[in-house]
Amino acid sequence: MISVDSKSDDNESLRFFCLGGGNEVGRSCHIIEFKGKTVMFDAGVHPGFSGLNALPFYDEYDLSKVDILLISHFHLDHAASLPYVMQHTNFKGRVFMTHPTKAIFRWILGDFVRITSIGEGVSATVYNDDDLADAFDRIETIDYHSTLEIDGIKFTAYHAGHVLGAAMFFVEIGGLKVLFTGDYSRVKDRHLYSAEVPPEKPDVLICESTFGIATFENREEAENRLTRLVHGAVSNGGRVLLPTFALGRAQELMLVLDEYWSENPDLENIEIYFCSALARKCMTVYKTYVNMMNEEIRRRFKTENMNPFNFKYIKTLRSLESFEDFGPCVVIASPGMLQNGTSRELLERWAPDPRNALIITGYSVEGTMAKTILTEPLEIPSSNNPDIMIPRRLSVDEISFAAHVDYEQNSQFIDLVSPKNIILVHGEINPMGRLKSALLSKYAKFRKTKREVKVFTPRNCDDLRIQFQGMRVAKALGNIAEVKPKPGDIMTGVLVSKNFDLNLLKVDDLREFSGLTTTVVKERQTIRITSGRDLMHWHLSQMFGYVEVLHDNEEEFELKVMNDVTLTLEKDICTIQWTSGLINDTIADSVIAILLSVDSSPASVKMTSRIHSHDHNHDHNHDGEVKVEVKTEEVKEKEKDIKQKLLERHGDSSIETRVHRIIGLLRAQFGESFSTNSERTGGIVKIGPTEAKINFMDLTAECSSNILKIRIEQIMNRATDLAAPLAQKTKVM
Ligand SMILES: [Zn+2]
Ligand SMILES: [Zn+2]
Repeated sequence: MISVDSKSDDNESLRFFCLGGGNEVGRSCHIIEFKGKTVMFDAGVHPGFSGLNALPFYDEYDLSKVDILLISHFHLDHAASLPYVMQHTNFKGRVFMTHPTKAIFRWILGDFVRITSIGEGVSATVYNDDDLADAFDRIETIDYHSTLEIDGIKFTAYHAGHVLGAAMFFVEIGGLKVLFTGDYSRVKDRHLYSAEVPPEKPDVLICESTFGIATFENREEAENRLTRLVHGAVSNGGRVLLPTFALGRAQELMLVLDEYWSENPDLENIEIYFCSALARKCMTVYKTYVNMMNEEIRRRFKTENMNPFNFKYIKTLRSLESFEDFGPCVVIASPGMLQNGTSRELLERWAPDPRNALIITGYSVEGTMAKTILTEPLEIPSSNNPDIMIPRRLSVDEISFAAHVDYEQNSQFIDLVSPKNIILVHGEINPMGRLKSALLSKYAKFRKTKREVKVFTPRNCDDLRIQFQGMRVAKALGNIAEVKPKPGDIMTGVLVSKNFDLNLLKVDDLREFSGLTTTVVKERQTIRITSGRDLMHWHLSQMFGYVEVLHDNEEEFELKVMNDVTLTLEKDICTIQWTSGLINDTIADSVIAILLSVDSSPASVKMTSRIHSHDHNHDHNHDGEVKVEVKTEEVKEKEKDIKQKLLERHGDSSIETRVHRIIGLLRAQFGESFSTNSERTGGIVKIGPTEAKINFMDLTAECSSNILKIRIEQIMNRATDLAAPLAQKTKVM
């Protein structure tokens, strides 16, 4: 690695802008800007608000700036406003998520649109089914552990635990590395991988802080407490309600309960229902993506040939219409926070009976019924008619199966990732504040050292900027890397910048390592032509054999000579363009020389009787006469100028260079059919049985075919026309 001196500019600061999910849980949406690139993470809604109020603060940011939007997982607080962003704002970036997230996203949001448009019209005013379908088609997918690069933004997806399809995104822009955790979990549960630690260390970690400094009971204890509670309630004739989001924790709870039922025969007659309009679709998705789940699930799937999501004791219900509520049972129903829908309906129905039990297993957002009922109020309002209060006598318990991290898991993960800057998001103000203090005191020992850790807790729409040193680093590639420099040595080479990556190369290595060549300079020359298309074509063909006609119509006439020299004729102005290089320069120069002489050439006059067989109506009239224009003084001056330049370019070249040029031109003409002798004083052109012996020194060719002989000599003469007379000089030698 070589450090490159460069003036640090204002672009070296990372801008972080929270449109939602800052000091709150819900409507996650975060923006990072660095070196003119913009990445957005997530586009959620807030479950505690409705309608447009539930959206992130999209009006506070120019979404047309966003290059890519990465969706961490399918939960509504991370993905539900995506159709709105894509269909109803000036956003025009690309959207990525994992395959399972995309598959599930479609069903979930379909359900979201349906449920909320029945109720308060939350999303009905925000987007509809058509928006969803249109947006869905434009979503691109990314595999776990694969890295995509778009316009200099590199990003990789890693397992985040949490729910099926959840991803952490490791993003790199211009050398700056950012890791966004999304919601993540480090506990290995029954079906998911736990969150991975990416192999590279980020400069900035954007991290969830949902549970602040809380400590979860361990997984085994939580499972035991759950099964004991459920078993107790149903044995007592009670009904158990487990409100969860339809996907994710629901399936995990089902895995736990199905196993427990199979171990407890006395429960055989007690039904477990999974009630959701999405139930069947959800199960299909889970069965489909078994290969994305952890080893244990895949092992069972493979060796026991059983899909763990083919449950023995769990029945699916589309809605409560088909539910026969006769006695003890367990119902897993969405939504998880009891805002409305099935879980709310069952809560209101079962709340008055003290034998019944409510178990909250996920995180409850401020402002939702799940959060309220944890305070064990004596009455709860009916969701259909808030004036009606329903007595609450059912038991309320909270057992966290939340697939988030607690303090221990979070701080351990942060240690492993060891970022210098931590931005906390996805947390209510108090838990987040406590987490910040805990982290700061943990890293207090590094204060004022190189390892100092900064922790930020920006609110929505705060403008956070983090400065980064302006030092840039270049990779030494190719021959230049062979040298082992001492620190402080200065190395010279070509600095190639591609999407922020800097590579230092020797010029000779340019093509191999960067795909660039050293001859990409485009040359252009314009001259006035009065003799028309056909003559131009004819003269060039005489010289070069085959001239490709790219366009020949009313508006344009375009020719291509020897692969890389193009001539475009507009009215009487001919533009010659080529990529500069020794051979191309020579070809272009001969083209120019030919064009300059076309008007005055006797061949032009002779040609006039032959060319009009194919009909063109420009420059020459139909009786085959060439229109002769008198060149103005100005035109003559310009031609003199061009000729002078050609002469300067070639006149001072050594004989060796000129021979090289002739060889180049003959090779361009005859390709493999042409070869030089070992002294490079002459060569041979062999076309079929015909052979021409060429002498570069006196510019002659010997050949049985007069046509070929003349053509070769013409080529050599043309080449030397441009330069000081080669033949004369060689004679002196
Ligand atoms: Zn989530
Ligand atoms: Zn979340």
